[in-house]
Amino acid sequence: MSIRIDRQRCIGCGKCAEICPGNLIVIDEDKKAFIRDPRDCWGCAACVKECTFQAIQYFLGADIGGKGTIMYVKKENNLLYWFFKKPNGEKEVIVQNPNDNTTY
Ligand code: SF4
Ligand code: SF4
Repeated sequence: MSIRIDRQRCIGCGKCAEICPGNLIVIDEDKKAFIRDPRDCWGCAACVKECTFQAIQYFLGADIGGKGTIMYVKKENNLLYWFFKKPNGEKEVIVQNPNDNTTY
């Protein structure tokens, strides 16, 4: 379980680096985010939620029953859209109001 950062989408805003509780993400000289060592990531998903450019993808590996599903987040009208893209191409979405933190 870890994240991957899409450098094409990253605009170097630094929000993911600020939010990561393990200080695992840094902004490089090209103003792109990268994770120092993906093996150190414990999958809290804070950075995924913070990136409004869908530049961070979270891989749900077999270790947590995800079988390679990719998760990413989109923000729209103060709502969070959690997308789950399965290896077979199917997509699911969960809509969350961040002000209602007890739902998930
Ligand atoms: S939050 Fe997203 S766009 Fe901003 S630096 Fe991190 S990966 Fe790049
Ligand atoms: S998922 Fe959590 S621990 Fe892993 S890089 Fe993102 S913020 Fe850091």
